[in-house]
Amino acid sequence: MTAEEEAERIERGRLLFAGPIDFELGVADMSQLPEATLNEVAFAGRSNVGKSSLINALTNRLKLARASTEPGRTRELNFFRMGDQLRIVDLPGYGYAKAPKSEIGRWTKLTRDYLRGRPTLKRVILLIDSRHGLKPDDKDVMDALDKSAVNYQLVLTKADKIKPTEADAIQRATEAAIAKRPAAHPVVIATSSETGLGIEALRAEIAALA
Ligand code: GDP
Repeated sequence: MTAEEEAERIERGRLLFAGPIDFELGVADMSQLPEATLNEVAFAGRSNVGKSSLINALTNRLKLARASTEPGRTRELNFFRMGDQLRIVDLPGYGYAKAPKSEIGRWTKLTRDYLRGRPTLKRVILLIDSRHGLKPDDKDVMDALDKSAVNYQLVLTKADKIKPTEADAIQRATEAAIAKRPAAHPVVIATSSETGLGIEALRAEIAALA
């Protein structure tokens, strides 16, 4: 890509996220899904990975996704509409051990059904905490997405919490871990909702799917 093309991509991302973004609905059951009319990009990750903070940083709206202090609280699929361009789908966090078993079952089934059967879902942004790297739960999710041929992209969160040398190492390790995974997008983006690192690049990636 030329520098000019790259600048254009970044500008498209900036414009998309500067436009309207509204909460549309929370879905607790497959029968409530909005009609599949717009492309969708879904955000997934372990509870407390920094998903709400990242969505708020991307959209420049402080409280769009509630940054919950209570891990595992969000149980629904939350749909946000970006005008007539794209939907952002905030999926329930996974891997939170203290939630009642029956509830974990319900979230998992709803999320899995959505991920498997949504024709308009263009990519899952799978968030990984820079300090912890890929956990067994994350690998389970990647296995399921590979199996269903749902495109996904790994994004490292909270990059400000580790040293640059550690950040390089985790970036390389993460890229190596996806190299042979058929549904993984090859670009791994390191982000920080605190410093804004990687936010522009992620906006550009998402805008390319609108
Ligand atoms: P969620 O459960 O995945 O939605 O995670 P939250 O967005 O609620 O974040 C979990 C915790 O991590 C909160 O205490 C956030 O303030 C903190 N956090 C999230 N993103 C960042 C980041 O980029 N840098 C730092 N230093 N802290 C973060």
